[in-house]
Amino acid sequence: MEANSDLKKGMGKYFGVCPSYHHSKGCRCSNCPSYPGDDRYMYCARGVAESPAEDKGCLCRDCYVYHQFALEGDKFCMRNPE
Ligand code: SF4
Ligand code: SF4
Repeated sequence: MEANSDLKKGMGKYFGVCPSYHHSKGCRCSNCPSYPGDDRYMYCARGVAESPAEDKGCLCRDCYVYHQFALEGDKFCMRNPE
């Protein structure tokens, strides 16, 4: 399957994150000191903020979604995962 081949290439993980209401409730972004304040969330699934805020830390590693999808890295509002 295409998704599996993407995963093997290390590309598919973040495209597979489901930004459903259920998962959005787990997103920690709105409580984060680095939150861009753009009323968005789940940057791991939706990509970087248009105007990222100053880096004051990241709560992603404490997030349910992060562990549910076995994500790597953090600060998804500031940069796309490698
Ligand atoms: S992606 Fe990380 S740094 Fe950015 S707002 Fe969410 S928890 Fe904070
Ligand atoms: S991993 Fe980060 S960006 Fe993704 S849902 Fe959790 S807190 Fe939000």
